[in-house]
Amino acid sequence: MNNIYSKTKEELECYFESIGEKKFKATQTIEWLYQKREANIDNWTNIKKEIREKIQDHFTFEMPKIIKREQDKLTEKYLIELNDSQHIEAVLMRHDYGNSVCVSSQVGCNMGCVFCESGRLKKIRNLETYEMVSQILLIEELINERISSVVIMGIGEPLDNYENVINFIKIINDAKGIAIGARHITLSTCGLIPKMKELMNLPLQINLAISLHASNNDLRSKLMKVNKVYSMNDLVDTIKEYINKTNRRVTIEYVMLNNVNDKIEHAVELAHILHGLNVYVNLIPYNETNHLEFKKSNQSQIMKFYDTLKKNKINVTIRKEFGSKISAACGQLRSKEVEK
Ligand code: SAH
Repeated sequence: MNNIYSKTKEELECYFESIGEKKFKATQTIEWLYQKREANIDNWTNIKKEIREKIQDHFTFEMPKIIKREQDKLTEKYLIELNDSQHIEAVLMRHDYGNSVCVSSQVGCNMGCVFCESGRLKKIRNLETYEMVSQILLIEELINERISSVVIMGIGEPLDNYENVINFIKIINDAKGIAIGARHITLSTCGLIPKMKELMNLPLQINLAISLHASNNDLRSKLMKVNKVYSMNDLVDTIKEYINKTNRRVTIEYVMLNNVNDKIEHAVELAHILHGLNVYVNLIPYNETNHLEFKKSNQSQIMKFYDTLKKNKINVTIRKEFGSKISAACGQLRSKEVEK
């Protein structure tokens, strides 16, 4: 599959050089695709017809489709149909600082976190780069507004689809293209350590978020299968290494599960583990789903947990809840569709 929306600037440059053309044609192509949003190559007037024909022979231009849109005041959720009839989801969140989109990186997920809806349905395949890029393009076109930030927190484990995800980030970050600043791009991982090590060596200033969700190794192994492969100790060491290498603050995600990981002693234990690290903890109110037995922590428990972390000098915020009325827990819309 040689879709043009999967190609980074460097890849397009290589292509143009390979057909004996100048590298700057890559920039022109990017401007047509992402600035002028002109998908009809016949209208690319500054590129000669003969070259346009070569481009058309070499690349496909097809895009997935948005087939369902659910809305509430600040959130919209989309079900997207891919060209092989698989489904994924993307979510738009309207913040006071701009529009943010949560993109999926795989069809299904194999990480097997017990509280997560996406993981109930196993991974079918990785998303191609263009299938991630198109989540941004389709939504911008539909709402006729710009998206200013992207979180890779939808269905799938992005570091389990490393190459395509990195190319996706390069494409949306390209200043001549969609131009979303690296500081406005967040990648969330359950902690695939070898890939985190690769990521820390890339010159990309993106934000990294780690789904920690537990304050000790045993509890984490119960909640997240991945912890049996990459233990919490090693993960915390890797986070330290990441911070030292990149000089960037890392986000620790902690989903608040009633009576599971939300006790004061968990907060104390968590504070101890994270002590002195350049991180901030994002407490996530759990989005309940019909299929899983987990319940969300009540507000007062979340506040106690928050206060305990604060008292122990850990930076902490509580994630604003978006779209609980519109099946916004990652994977809910897709699983409804698949199980229909
Ligand atoms: N695989 C990646 C990214 C996708 S999941 C990761 O694990 O980080 C994005 C985040 O949503 C993760 O922190 C995940 O644990 C969390 N999450 C999953 N199901 C949830 C639910 N029902 N309610 C709240 N957060 C959930």
